[in-house]
Amino acid sequence: MDSDSPLDLSSRPERSAVERPAVDDDDGPLLKPLAPGLYLVATPIGNLEDITLRALRVLRSVDRIACEDTRQTAKLLNHYGIRTPTVSYHIHNESSRSSELIETLKAGGRIAVVSDAGTPGIADPGATIAAEAIAAGITIYPIPGANAALSALIASGLPAETFTFHGFLPSKEGQRRTTLEALRNSSEPTTQIFYETPHRILDALTDIITTFGPTQPIVIARELTKLHEEFLRGTADELLTTLKSRPSIRGEIVLLLGPTPTNSASTATTENLTLSEEVAALIRTESLSEKDALKRVAKSRNISKSEAYREYQRTTAHKR
Ligand code: SAM
Repeated sequence: MDSDSPLDLSSRPERSAVERPAVDDDDGPLLKPLAPGLYLVATPIGNLEDITLRALRVLRSVDRIACEDTRQTAKLLNHYGIRTPTVSYHIHNESSRSSELIETLKAGGRIAVVSDAGTPGIADPGATIAAEAIAAGITIYPIPGANAALSALIASGLPAETFTFHGFLPSKEGQRRTTLEALRNSSEPTTQIFYETPHRILDALTDIITTFGPTQPIVIARELTKLHEEFLRGTADELLTTLKSRPSIRGEIVLLLGPTPTNSASTATTENLTLSEEVAALIRTESLSEKDALKRVAKSRNISKSEAYREYQRTTAHKR
């Protein structure tokens, strides 16, 4: 076997000898102390089994666990019989708590940071303390694990070679539409990933239809790793109809937009389109009426509406 093969674990150097488990005794693995530093530990997003052995060992061995919500993390710690002291660390006390934790770390402490679920720092607290710890010369250890965006992506069936994660879409309609329009106009057709809430998903889909058109490929990943895990795959129009027909929409949601050639082509290359092609593209991608599409094209080409209409009539009549 090639020594660089990912399967050849024996050839991989250990990151830190101090972290390696030692011999077993009656109480289970006798662990050498963890190296001092900040441990960013991913926790399950639903299924309590989705946590690594290393994460459990780190949570058991650190001096303190900084939690987004200590009550939420207590469920996980109780499940695994971990009795490490916890302290709250959330957006409201992030800066004061960070300074306190950094002082402990500077004195050689070992602190774990966890969010309520998933990977800290991803649409969750974690990035601020990481930056501050780096500035203070403290070693940081990522302890990888569950993440909703990546779990949704790998099972979505959408291309995963390149993708963009955006966190939550803005909650206000105007800002949401502006964000979506900017994406539609961006040049790279890639899979786009958003976190969304059940009470905003219908509005988000409606805005996606307005911006990208009703045939935009969409995947909705709901309640990942939980009892009612569900993947809905289809066009924006189909998924809106499906969700509208339900008496209620519940659970946690990841919303994914597949790359469509029109993402980039609809606006980025309009200079190369004839007037009638541009009108047709707007009708197709944005579900505009012929009249509205003509109005838009007239404006973008700086010509009058009647001029645009005449040109449109002339070229489309030609093709009939
Ligand atoms: N840090 C987390 C991670 O690594 O995925 C994300 C935290 S963010 C505050 C919470 C959002 O993530 C939810 O509103 C939802 O959009 C998404 N999410 C978290 N767990 C999920 C799950 N089990 N199924 C689907 N989406 C989930």
